[in-house]
Amino acid sequence: MNAYPRRLAVALAVIAILSGIAAAQEPPLRSITYRLSMSRPVSHLFEVAIIVELPDQLKDKPLQFQMAKWSPGRYGVFDFAKNVQEVRALAGNRSIRPVTRVDDQTWSVAPLGATTITISYKVFGNDLSGTFSQLDSRHANYNGASIFMYIVGHKADPVKLSIQAPAGWRIVNGRTERPGQTEWVFPNWDVLIDTPTEIAPDWTQDTFEVGGKRYHVVVHSFGPEGGKRAALVRDVERVVRAQISMWGPPEFEEYTFLFHFAADDHSGDGMEHLTSTQIIEPGALAEPGVYEDALGTVSHEFFHVWNVKRLRPQELGPWDFTRPLNTRSLWVAEGFTTYYGHLMLRRAGLWDDKKFLNRQAATVKRIESAQGSRLMNAEESSLSAPFIDDAPHAQLTNLQNTSISYYPKGELIGMVMDLLVRGRTKGKASLDDVMRDMYEEFYLKSPNDTYYLRGRGYQTEDLERIVSRRSGFDFGDFFKRHVRDVEVLPYDEAFGYAGLRLVKTQAKEPFDAGLSIQFDDSGEGFIQNVRNNSPAEDAGLQNNDEIVSLGGKAVTKDSWLKTLARFKPGDSVPVTVRRDRRTIKANIVLGQPERFDYKIEERPDATAEQKALRSAWLSGR
Ligand SMILES: [Zn+2]
Ligand SMILES: [Zn+2]
Repeated sequence: MNAYPRRLAVALAVIAILSGIAAAQEPPLRSITYRLSMSRPVSHLFEVAIIVELPDQLKDKPLQFQMAKWSPGRYGVFDFAKNVQEVRALAGNRSIRPVTRVDDQTWSVAPLGATTITISYKVFGNDLSGTFSQLDSRHANYNGASIFMYIVGHKADPVKLSIQAPAGWRIVNGRTERPGQTEWVFPNWDVLIDTPTEIAPDWTQDTFEVGGKRYHVVVHSFGPEGGKRAALVRDVERVVRAQISMWGPPEFEEYTFLFHFAADDHSGDGMEHLTSTQIIEPGALAEPGVYEDALGTVSHEFFHVWNVKRLRPQELGPWDFTRPLNTRSLWVAEGFTTYYGHLMLRRAGLWDDKKFLNRQAATVKRIESAQGSRLMNAEESSLSAPFIDDAPHAQLTNLQNTSISYYPKGELIGMVMDLLVRGRTKGKASLDDVMRDMYEEFYLKSPNDTYYLRGRGYQTEDLERIVSRRSGFDFGDFFKRHVRDVEVLPYDEAFGYAGLRLVKTQAKEPFDAGLSIQFDDSGEGFIQNVRNNSPAEDAGLQNNDEIVSLGGKAVTKDSWLKTLARFKPGDSVPVTVRRDRRTIKANIVLGQPERFDYKIEERPDATAEQKALRSAWLSGR
């Protein structure tokens, strides 16, 4: 290990301890109670009241109530305060009018000598997702950060929650202990918002046990299930068993999979929590592909029970909700989870070897075809999460050309690292061991670093140290080239250990000239993106140009790549576009082939030892 990252890690740890002390200076409030009601579901307005009992020494000091700017697990900044309305406050029984708004996310309430203050507001929510909330005629489904204000300086204090549901609607979340429960106590606000909650008259619940722990599969379907629910529960259990056989028993006693099968075209999400996950599928369970997609999300989100929710980057909790999160580690937190999410489907017997390897080859294609892969490294990608994780963009950006997602990027780093550890140790160690070592060192055996949760967070240098220690091989150079720089991963060495090889072949339609074309409902094609330094850019084409013809032919969704495929490198392809109500003719001079397919296949000379290593990798045994 070189000295720089160690010093950096120590410095960051000191800052974390100091900020923990600063936050703890104010005496805790006597109690904080959240009351949630929903008297008019079709208005999409949640009604929230926060009742605060103050210690005597705080009864003259204004309290600041704040809506988070973003929510853990999704790093785009959404400014939840924009949906807050009708903020009211009481000091004791005295109405405070108007309530002072301090800034875009903060309201201030002076107790005026009273020992109880109440703030109430309505908050609009009509978006079923892992981040936002929805209240409508069918249900209430909320993610706490989008509806609950926290009290500045008191995020660490315990909070109570009381929910008043419409008649006949039942409440369930990952901390439900008994049927009919309407009240909860949480150790702090961060755990309150880690507990997404479903309230509806018609959800179903199935339960299974693994190793003495209870797992609940809660399903709210808006469309037909096609009789598939029992099979879903059985396959969720297979995924749970496969993951526990890698990690060992989880820390919780009960865990809830909270599914929505939304039967629309726009909902779709998965979000990890300490004792639950929200999984939202856009289709109905009966529809083709929806079942498989749901299980893929199950495998990803359940892996987060360990990787992210407990074994976590240092910056992941407690959080500062006044500014976007900056961590260099999402390629581990999300990327490794994506890798293991797929691998666990294989280990659970839901996928065969071929399906897993094809899926990994598709990820290689995605990464190796993206211009951003050569411009943005894995740590920068993590730091760019607020820009690229489902973030709304009010201004146009070039991110399509310059960025790369830490999900597939981290997935490939994880896979290659796993194979390198297995190969270099002749099968004696694996990334599974490294992840368990990390979990033990940072979660199970570390003293609590903050109020939020057991253990402490890691830095990428810690992973570098632990993978080097476990494999007996210095991974410093690997991190330098493939994590902190953008060099192509050593696929040949990695796959070679498993008797496999990555085969890159020219695609049947080898050219795209650097164009992405979007076709509207009437079939007209508009340039959505021009790759930088591409033949299309050389030809003077721009975003939003309407493509009238290419190579003398009309342009359709299914034909334009075939049209280009009739040419060869160096050929000039005539193109006509419409821009600013003018017709422009240009020529695209094709360069070398740009589109490739990737396949992971068995090496003809694979040895018995390599095959055994592959089998151990894929089966987890
Ligand atoms: Zn629901
Ligand atoms: Zn994830």
